[in-house]
Amino acid sequence: MNYSDNVFDLVVPGVQQLVPYVAGKPINELERELGLTGIIKLASNENPLGLGKKALAAIQDALPKLTLYPDGNGFDLKSALAKKYAVNPDQITLGNGSNELLELVARAFLRPGLEAMFSEHAFAVYPIVTQAVGAAAVVVPALNYGNNLEAMVARISDLTRVVFIANPNNPTGTLLSQADLELFISALPKHCLCVLDEAYAEFVVDKEGINSIDWLPTNPNLIITRTFSKAYGLAGLRVGYALSSPEISDILNRVRQPFNNNMLALVAAEAALSDEDYLQQTIAVNNQGNMELTEGFKTLQLEWIPSAGNFIAVDLKRPAQPVYEALLRLGVIVRPIANYGLPNHLRISIGTHVENQFFLKALAETLGNV
Ligand SMILES: *Cc1c(COP(=O)(O)O)cnc(C)c1O
Repeated sequence: MNYSDNVFDLVVPGVQQLVPYVAGKPINELERELGLTGIIKLASNENPLGLGKKALAAIQDALPKLTLYPDGNGFDLKSALAKKYAVNPDQITLGNGSNELLELVARAFLRPGLEAMFSEHAFAVYPIVTQAVGAAAVVVPALNYGNNLEAMVARISDLTRVVFIANPNNPTGTLLSQADLELFISALPKHCLCVLDEAYAEFVVDKEGINSIDWLPTNPNLIITRTFSKAYGLAGLRVGYALSSPEISDILNRVRQPFNNNMLALVAAEAALSDEDYLQQTIAVNNQGNMELTEGFKTLQLEWIPSAGNFIAVDLKRPAQPVYEALLRLGVIVRPIANYGLPNHLRISIGTHVENQFFLKALAETLGNV
Protein backbone atom coordinates (compact mmCIF):
# COMPACT_ATOMS: atom_id res chain seq x y z
CA MET A 1 0.00 0.00 0.00
CA ASN A 2 1.20 3.50 -0.87
CA TYR A 3 1.17 6.26 1.71
CA SER A 4 1.58 9.84 0.72
CA ASP A 5 4.52 11.84 2.07
CA ASN A 6 2.11 13.95 4.01
CA VAL A 7 2.12 13.02 7.69
CA PHE A 8 -1.33 14.58 7.97
CA ASP A 9 -2.79 11.61 6.10
CA LEU A 10 -1.68 9.38 8.96
CA VAL A 11 -3.53 11.38 11.60
CA VAL A 12 -6.75 9.88 12.99
CA PRO A 13 -9.86 11.63 11.64
CA GLY A 14 -10.98 13.33 14.88
CA VAL A 15 -7.55 14.88 15.35
CA GLN A 16 -7.25 15.94 11.70
CA GLN A 17 -10.21 18.26 12.17
CA LEU A 18 -9.08 19.70 15.49
CA VAL A 19 -8.58 23.43 15.83
CA PRO A 20 -6.13 24.20 18.66
CA TYR A 21 -7.36 25.97 21.78
CA VAL A 22 -6.68 29.71 21.65
CA ALA A 23 -5.41 30.91 25.02
CA GLY A 24 -5.25 34.46 26.35
CA LYS A 25 -2.19 36.27 25.06
CA PRO A 26 0.74 35.92 27.50
CA ILE A 27 2.11 39.16 28.96
CA ASN A 28 5.70 38.49 27.84
CA GLU A 29 4.56 37.85 24.26
CA LEU A 30 2.95 41.30 24.07
CA GLU A 31 6.00 42.81 25.75
CA ARG A 32 8.20 41.31 23.03
CA GLU A 33 5.88 42.46 20.26
CA LEU A 34 5.35 46.04 21.39
CA GLY A 35 8.40 46.71 23.53
CA LEU A 36 6.00 47.78 26.28
CA THR A 37 6.23 47.12 30.00
CA GLY A 38 3.60 47.44 32.71
CA ILE A 39 1.12 45.42 30.70
CA ILE A 40 -2.01 44.21 32.45
CA LYS A 41 -3.67 40.93 31.56
CA LEU A 42 -7.38 40.49 32.17
CA ALA A 43 -7.73 37.66 29.69
CA SER A 44 -7.60 34.26 31.38
CA ASN A 45 -9.67 34.60 34.55
CA GLU A 46 -6.59 34.29 36.72
CA ASN A 47 -6.55 35.43 40.34
CA PRO A 48 -5.37 39.08 40.43
CA LEU A 49 -4.08 38.87 44.03
CA GLY A 50 -0.93 36.93 43.25
CA LEU A 51 0.12 33.75 44.99
CA GLY A 52 -1.24 33.20 48.52
CA LYS A 53 1.25 33.12 51.41
CA LYS A 54 0.41 29.58 52.47
CA ALA A 55 0.80 28.20 48.93
CA LEU A 56 4.11 30.01 48.52
CA ALA A 57 5.46 28.62 51.81
CA ALA A 58 4.42 25.09 50.86
CA ILE A 59 6.17 25.41 47.50
CA GLN A 60 9.34 26.70 49.13
CA ASP A 61 9.33 23.80 51.61
CA ALA A 62 8.94 21.26 48.82
CA LEU A 63 11.66 22.58 46.51
CA PRO A 64 14.51 20.48 47.98
CA LYS A 65 12.42 17.32 47.51
CA LEU A 66 12.01 17.65 43.77
CA THR A 67 14.38 14.78 42.96
CA LEU A 68 11.62 12.43 44.11
CA TYR A 69 8.49 11.49 42.18
CA PRO A 70 5.33 13.08 43.55
CA ASP A 71 2.71 10.97 45.33
CA GLY A 72 0.89 9.55 42.31
CA ASN A 73 -2.26 9.06 44.35
CA GLY A 74 -2.26 12.54 45.85
CA PHE A 75 -3.09 11.13 49.27
CA ASP A 76 -2.70 14.35 51.27
CA LEU A 77 -4.55 16.60 48.85
CA LYS A 78 -7.37 14.09 48.45
CA SER A 79 -7.66 13.75 52.23
CA ALA A 80 -7.91 17.53 52.59
CA LEU A 81 -10.54 17.76 49.83
CA ALA A 82 -12.48 14.82 51.28
CA LYS A 83 -12.59 16.49 54.66
CA LYS A 84 -13.60 19.88 53.28
CA TYR A 85 -16.40 18.53 51.09
CA ALA A 86 -17.49 15.59 53.25
CA VAL A 87 -16.89 12.99 50.54
CA ASN A 88 -14.80 9.83 50.55
CA PRO A 89 -11.27 10.10 49.08
CA ASP A 90 -12.19 7.34 46.60
CA GLN A 91 -14.71 9.76 45.05
CA ILE A 92 -11.93 12.19 44.09
CA THR A 93 -9.84 12.17 40.92
CA LEU A 94 -7.01 14.68 40.61
CA GLY A 95 -6.16 16.21 37.25
CA ASN A 96 -3.44 18.32 35.68
CA GLY A 97 -5.87 21.20 35.74
CA SER A 98 -9.54 20.36 35.45
CA ASN A 99 -8.94 20.40 31.69
CA GLU A 100 -7.27 17.04 32.03
CA LEU A 101 -10.33 15.63 33.77
CA LEU A 102 -12.51 16.71 30.85
CA GLU A 103 -10.15 14.87 28.55
CA LEU A 104 -10.12 11.75 30.75
CA VAL A 105 -13.92 11.65 30.66
CA ALA A 106 -13.87 11.89 26.87
CA ARG A 107 -11.27 9.16 26.54
CA ALA A 108 -13.09 6.82 28.90
CA PHE A 109 -16.67 7.36 27.72
CA LEU A 110 -16.70 8.69 24.14
CA ARG A 111 -15.73 7.22 20.77
CA PRO A 112 -16.77 7.56 17.10
CA GLY A 113 -20.48 6.92 16.81
CA LEU A 114 -21.30 8.40 20.23
CA GLU A 115 -22.32 11.95 21.12
CA ALA A 116 -21.29 14.62 23.61
CA MET A 117 -23.64 17.53 24.22
CA PHE A 118 -22.96 21.09 25.30
CA SER A 119 -24.40 24.54 24.87
CA GLU A 120 -23.69 27.22 22.33
CA HIS A 121 -21.13 29.62 23.93
CA ALA A 122 -19.73 26.76 26.04
CA PHE A 123 -16.11 26.35 27.17
CA ALA A 124 -13.85 25.68 24.16
CA VAL A 125 -12.31 22.58 25.69
CA TYR A 126 -15.56 20.55 25.38
CA PRO A 127 -15.53 20.48 21.56
CA ILE A 128 -11.80 19.81 21.55
CA VAL A 129 -11.89 16.73 23.78
CA THR A 130 -14.97 15.46 21.95
CA GLN A 131 -13.39 15.85 18.51
CA ALA A 132 -10.09 14.35 19.60
CA VAL A 133 -11.74 10.99 20.30
CA GLY A 134 -13.87 11.16 17.15
CA ALA A 135 -17.23 11.54 18.90
CA ALA A 136 -19.95 13.81 17.55
CA ALA A 137 -20.64 17.16 19.23
CA VAL A 138 -24.29 18.15 19.70
CA VAL A 139 -24.36 21.90 20.27
CA VAL A 140 -27.63 23.16 21.74
CA PRO A 141 -28.61 26.82 21.15
CA ALA A 142 -28.21 29.00 24.24
CA LEU A 143 -31.01 30.66 26.17
CA ASN A 144 -30.11 34.20 27.26
CA TYR A 145 -26.43 33.29 26.67
CA GLY A 146 -26.65 30.33 29.07
CA ASN A 147 -27.38 26.60 29.04
CA ASN A 148 -30.93 25.84 27.89
CA LEU A 149 -31.66 22.75 29.99
CA GLU A 150 -35.07 22.08 28.45
CA ALA A 151 -33.66 22.16 24.94
CA MET A 152 -30.80 19.93 26.06
CA VAL A 153 -33.12 17.30 27.53
CA ALA A 154 -35.02 17.24 24.27
CA ARG A 155 -31.85 16.48 22.28
CA ILE A 156 -30.58 13.58 24.40
CA SER A 157 -30.48 10.37 22.40
CA ASP A 158 -29.43 6.76 22.91
CA LEU A 159 -26.00 7.83 21.68
CA THR A 160 -25.47 10.71 24.13
CA ARG A 161 -22.88 9.64 26.68
CA VAL A 162 -21.72 12.95 28.15
CA VAL A 163 -23.37 16.33 28.71
CA PHE A 164 -20.92 19.10 29.59
CA ILE A 165 -22.38 21.97 31.60
CA ALA A 166 -20.33 24.80 33.06
CA ASN A 167 -22.04 26.57 35.98
CA PRO A 168 -21.25 29.46 36.09
CA ASN A 169 -20.69 29.30 32.35
CA ASN A 170 -17.50 30.53 30.71
CA PRO A 171 -17.32 32.88 28.73
CA THR A 172 -20.79 34.27 29.46
CA GLY A 173 -20.89 34.11 33.29
CA THR A 174 -24.50 32.88 33.35
CA LEU A 175 -25.69 30.86 36.34
CA LEU A 176 -28.32 28.11 36.36
CA SER A 177 -30.66 27.66 39.28
CA GLN A 178 -29.58 24.78 41.50
CA ALA A 179 -33.10 23.37 41.54
CA ASP A 180 -33.33 23.30 37.73
CA LEU A 181 -29.92 21.75 37.45
CA GLU A 182 -30.62 19.04 40.01
CA LEU A 183 -33.85 18.17 38.24
CA PHE A 184 -32.04 18.01 34.90
CA ILE A 185 -29.32 15.71 36.23
CA SER A 186 -31.69 13.39 38.04
CA ALA A 187 -33.77 13.05 34.87
CA LEU A 188 -30.83 11.99 32.68
CA PRO A 189 -31.00 8.45 31.31
CA LYS A 190 -28.57 5.97 32.91
CA HIS A 191 -26.37 5.81 29.81
CA CYS A 192 -25.65 9.55 29.95
CA LEU A 193 -23.10 11.20 32.26
CA CYS A 194 -23.22 14.85 33.29
CA VAL A 195 -19.94 16.67 33.68
CA LEU A 196 -20.82 19.66 35.82
CA ASP A 197 -17.88 22.02 35.39
CA GLU A 198 -17.73 24.26 38.46
CA ALA A 199 -14.45 26.05 37.74
CA TYR A 200 -16.02 29.26 39.12
CA ALA A 201 -18.11 27.81 41.97
CA GLU A 202 -16.20 29.70 44.67
CA PHE A 203 -17.20 33.06 43.18
CA VAL A 204 -20.95 32.45 43.27
CA VAL A 205 -22.60 34.91 45.64
CA ASP A 206 -26.18 34.02 44.71
CA LYS A 207 -27.99 33.33 47.98
CA GLU A 208 -29.01 29.90 46.69
CA GLY A 209 -25.30 28.98 46.63
CA ILE A 210 -23.93 25.81 45.06
CA ASN A 211 -24.96 22.48 46.56
CA SER A 212 -24.21 20.02 43.78
CA ILE A 213 -22.01 17.84 45.99
CA ASP A 214 -25.17 16.86 47.87
CA TRP A 215 -26.52 15.34 44.66
CA LEU A 216 -23.68 12.82 44.25
CA PRO A 217 -25.11 10.00 46.43
CA THR A 218 -28.33 9.84 44.42
CA ASN A 219 -26.81 10.59 40.98
CA PRO A 220 -24.14 8.03 40.09
CA ASN A 221 -23.78 9.57 36.62
CA LEU A 222 -22.73 13.01 37.94
CA ILE A 223 -19.12 14.20 37.69
CA ILE A 224 -18.36 17.58 39.29
CA THR A 225 -15.10 19.20 38.23
CA ARG A 226 -13.39 22.05 40.05
CA THR A 227 -10.04 23.75 39.87
CA PHE A 228 -7.30 25.49 41.81
CA SER A 229 -6.64 27.75 38.80
CA LYS A 230 -9.17 30.47 39.49
CA ALA A 231 -10.23 31.37 43.05
CA TYR A 232 -7.25 29.55 44.59
CA GLY A 233 -4.75 31.38 42.39
CA LEU A 234 -2.70 28.42 41.12
CA ALA A 235 -3.32 28.47 37.35
CA GLY A 236 0.38 28.06 36.60
CA LEU A 237 0.65 24.84 38.58
CA ARG A 238 -2.23 22.94 36.96
CA VAL A 239 -4.42 21.26 39.58
CA GLY A 240 -8.06 20.34 39.26
CA TYR A 241 -10.24 17.64 40.76
CA ALA A 242 -13.35 15.67 39.97
CA LEU A 243 -15.92 14.52 42.50
CA SER A 244 -18.02 11.54 41.45
CA SER A 245 -19.07 8.05 42.44
CA PRO A 246 -16.15 5.79 43.40
CA GLU A 247 -16.89 3.73 40.27
CA ILE A 248 -16.37 6.68 37.91
CA SER A 249 -13.31 7.82 39.83
CA ASP A 250 -11.85 4.33 39.45
CA ILE A 251 -12.35 4.50 35.67
CA LEU A 252 -10.80 7.98 35.33
CA ASN A 253 -7.91 6.82 37.46
CA ARG A 254 -7.17 4.05 34.96
CA VAL A 255 -6.72 6.42 32.02
CA ARG A 256 -4.71 9.13 33.71
CA GLN A 257 -0.93 9.28 33.71
CA PRO A 258 0.60 7.85 36.90
CA PHE A 259 2.12 11.17 38.04
CA ASN A 260 -0.27 13.67 36.47
CA ASN A 261 0.09 16.17 39.32
CA ASN A 262 3.58 17.42 40.05
CA MET A 263 4.84 17.71 43.60
CA LEU A 264 4.68 21.50 43.85
CA ALA A 265 1.13 21.48 42.55
CA LEU A 266 0.04 18.93 45.15
CA VAL A 267 1.54 20.74 48.15
CA ALA A 268 0.46 24.19 46.96
CA ALA A 269 -3.12 23.08 46.35
CA GLU A 270 -3.34 21.50 49.79
CA ALA A 271 -2.01 24.69 51.39
CA ALA A 272 -4.30 26.91 49.29
CA LEU A 273 -7.31 24.88 50.34
CA SER A 274 -6.60 25.78 53.96
CA ASP A 275 -6.03 29.48 53.23
CA GLU A 276 -9.51 30.77 54.01
CA ASP A 277 -8.28 34.39 54.28
CA TYR A 278 -6.93 34.35 50.74
CA LEU A 279 -10.16 32.87 49.41
CA GLN A 280 -12.31 35.42 51.21
CA GLN A 281 -10.12 38.28 50.01
CA THR A 282 -10.33 36.91 46.47
CA ILE A 283 -14.11 36.85 46.61
CA ALA A 284 -14.28 40.35 48.11
CA VAL A 285 -11.98 41.80 45.43
CA ASN A 286 -14.03 40.04 42.77
CA ASN A 287 -17.35 41.40 44.04
CA GLN A 288 -15.92 44.90 44.27
CA GLY A 289 -14.37 44.59 40.79
CA ASN A 290 -17.61 43.31 39.29
CA MET A 291 -19.35 46.48 40.53
CA GLU A 292 -16.51 48.68 39.31
CA LEU A 293 -16.50 47.22 35.82
CA THR A 294 -20.26 47.23 35.43
CA GLU A 295 -20.39 50.86 36.63
CA GLY A 296 -17.74 51.65 34.02
CA PHE A 297 -19.72 49.87 31.30
CA LYS A 298 -22.83 51.80 32.29
CA THR A 299 -20.94 55.09 31.99
CA LEU A 300 -19.78 54.05 28.51
CA GLN A 301 -23.37 53.03 27.67
CA LEU A 302 -22.38 49.45 27.02
CA GLU A 303 -24.40 46.38 27.85
CA TRP A 304 -22.91 43.34 29.55
CA ILE A 305 -23.99 39.84 30.52
CA PRO A 306 -24.45 39.74 34.32
CA SER A 307 -21.76 37.36 35.57
CA ALA A 308 -21.53 34.98 38.49
CA GLY A 309 -17.84 34.33 37.75
CA ASN A 310 -14.60 36.34 37.89
CA PHE A 311 -15.04 37.80 34.40
CA ILE A 312 -17.63 39.77 32.46
CA ALA A 313 -18.57 39.62 28.78
CA VAL A 314 -19.33 43.10 27.51
CA ASP A 315 -21.29 43.79 24.32
CA LEU A 316 -19.58 46.41 22.13
CA LYS A 317 -22.37 46.30 19.51
CA ARG A 318 -19.69 46.17 16.84
CA PRO A 319 -16.90 43.74 15.94
CA ALA A 320 -14.76 43.35 19.03
CA GLN A 321 -11.52 42.34 17.32
CA PRO A 322 -10.36 45.89 16.39
CA VAL A 323 -11.15 47.07 19.93
CA TYR A 324 -9.18 44.12 21.33
CA GLU A 325 -6.21 45.05 19.13
CA ALA A 326 -6.37 48.72 20.08
CA LEU A 327 -6.43 47.75 23.77
CA LEU A 328 -3.31 45.63 23.21
CA ARG A 329 -1.50 48.70 21.92
CA LEU A 330 -2.43 50.44 25.17
CA GLY A 331 -0.96 47.53 27.14
CA VAL A 332 -4.21 45.79 28.12
CA ILE A 333 -4.85 42.15 27.24
CA VAL A 334 -8.50 41.05 27.31
CA ARG A 335 -10.20 38.20 25.47
CA PRO A 336 -12.07 38.35 22.17
CA ILE A 337 -14.68 35.57 22.13
CA ALA A 338 -15.70 35.39 18.48
CA ASN A 339 -14.61 31.74 18.56
CA TYR A 340 -17.34 31.21 21.19
CA GLY A 341 -19.94 32.63 18.83
CA LEU A 342 -19.83 36.14 20.34
CA PRO A 343 -18.02 38.36 17.81
CA ASN A 344 -19.24 41.65 19.34
CA HIS A 345 -18.29 40.81 22.91
CA LEU A 346 -15.04 41.03 24.82
CA ARG A 347 -14.54 38.98 27.96
CA ILE A 348 -12.80 40.91 30.72
CA SER A 349 -11.37 39.06 33.71
CA ILE A 350 -12.07 41.01 36.88
CA GLY A 351 -8.84 42.46 38.22
CA THR A 352 -7.68 44.56 41.13
CA HIS A 353 -9.03 48.09 41.55
CA VAL A 354 -5.96 49.51 39.78
CA GLU A 355 -6.24 47.06 36.87
CA ASN A 356 -9.98 47.62 36.45
CA GLN A 357 -9.53 51.39 36.36
CA PHE A 358 -6.62 51.14 33.93
CA PHE A 359 -8.71 48.92 31.66
CA LEU A 360 -11.78 51.19 31.80
CA LYS A 361 -9.70 54.21 30.93
CA ALA A 362 -8.11 52.37 28.00
CA LEU A 363 -11.52 51.15 26.84
CA ALA A 364 -12.99 54.65 26.92
CA GLU A 365 -10.02 55.95 24.95
CA THR A 366 -10.26 53.10 22.47
CA LEU A 367 -13.99 53.41 21.84
CA GLY A 368 -13.49 57.07 21.09
CA ASN A 369 -10.88 56.22 18.46
CA VAL A 370 -11.79 53.05 16.55
C1 LIG B 1 -10.70 27.95 33.56
C2 LIG B 1 -11.70 26.87 33.33
C3 LIG B 1 -11.44 25.56 33.68
C4 LIG B 1 -10.22 25.21 34.45
O1 LIG B 1 -9.13 24.97 33.78
P1 LIG B 1 -7.87 24.34 34.52
O2 LIG B 1 -7.45 23.27 33.59
O3 LIG B 1 -8.33 23.77 35.83
O4 LIG B 1 -6.91 25.45 34.66
C5 LIG B 1 -12.40 24.60 33.45
N1 LIG B 1 -13.58 24.91 32.93
C6 LIG B 1 -13.89 26.17 32.62
C7 LIG B 1 -15.24 26.47 32.11
C8 LIG B 1 -12.94 27.18 32.78
O5 LIG B 1 -13.25 28.42 32.43
